[in-house]
Amino acid sequence: MKPLKELTRPNIWALKPYSSARDEYCGKEASVFLDANENPYNTPNNRYPDPLQRELKALIAPAKGVRPEQLFLGNGSDEAIDLMYRCFTTPGQDNVVAIEPTYGMYKVCADINDVAYRPVELDEHFQCSADRLLATCDERTKLIWICSPNNPTGNLLDRQEIEKVLDAFEGIVIIDEAYADFSSERPFRLDLDRYPNLVVLNTFSKAWGCAAIRLGMAFASADIIQLLNKVKYPYNINRLTQEAAIRLMEQDYVVKRWVSSLLNERARLTAAFSQLAVCRQVYPTDANFFLAKVTDARSIYDYLVDKGIIVRNRTTVALCKDCLRITVGTRPENDTLIEALKNYPA
Ligand SMILES: *Cc1c(COP(=O)(O)O)cnc(C)c1O
Repeated sequence: MKPLKELTRPNIWALKPYSSARDEYCGKEASVFLDANENPYNTPNNRYPDPLQRELKALIAPAKGVRPEQLFLGNGSDEAIDLMYRCFTTPGQDNVVAIEPTYGMYKVCADINDVAYRPVELDEHFQCSADRLLATCDERTKLIWICSPNNPTGNLLDRQEIEKVLDAFEGIVIIDEAYADFSSERPFRLDLDRYPNLVVLNTFSKAWGCAAIRLGMAFASADIIQLLNKVKYPYNINRLTQEAAIRLMEQDYVVKRWVSSLLNERARLTAAFSQLAVCRQVYPTDANFFLAKVTDARSIYDYLVDKGIIVRNRTTVALCKDCLRITVGTRPENDTLIEALKNYPA
């Protein structure tokens, strides 16, 4: 890996971050707070939240097998994705490389930040080749985006290929593991100490059932996390979100129950789906959704909408012609989908 200073945007490396009242005094023992121009009434929402979310991080870090200083919390993973561009890429000059197809936000944030985005198509098994990713990089490539299990394909990417990218690439490799809770593969966040150029993304939006509270995680070296913290809005995670996440962390056994029942449903739903007349192929999945090639994605999508059932039509996405992406729901929801498709007029 190149020295972090060389990878960082020069103005960000030099940035002196905003110092809030809660940065300058962050102890809890005081009883009279007259430092932040808050209203003394309307407790507890009158007070600014902890800018570094220490209480929440103290719960998340051990649960995820990392140290608190290796953890960044964002307003969804989407904030962490955007911050990677703002910290490491210079608009109009640098580029990033990404697998294709994958999650759409990596490209949207590249476009917003005026950074060239270089997609590298997966093979017919939706696997990536380290050599092809590396061959697409040049001296201005700062980031490589990998997503595993990948969205919208659902599959895990070959671990050896990812490790090869981590070993060979001089810039930063981001592995989005938004769906890792549904997979039995060892998550890459446990290898942070082995790879100084690794950033792993997780989210509360999927297995943790909290898409509405907007809470995402980035795991990386303490040096990279410090850069993200320097650039983020001072109070990026509001108090209601921190509270809701703390409550959920205190009963994470609920999440394990959700995941295990979704995995059972996934097996049942994919088996039933593959028997349908409309189904050409169900692709292997390690996530809480699956990709399926069907006889005619557009008309089947419209038919389902008509019945009040919404799936994701991915037919215009690279390698996904006539594919629908289907999220695993509750047992009755999944049964409703299968019954509707059994009655699809051939
Ligand atoms: C759903 C999803 C996310 C979640 O983003 P949030 O902003 O945390 O809701 C991140 N990455 C991938 C690949 C996803 O599919």
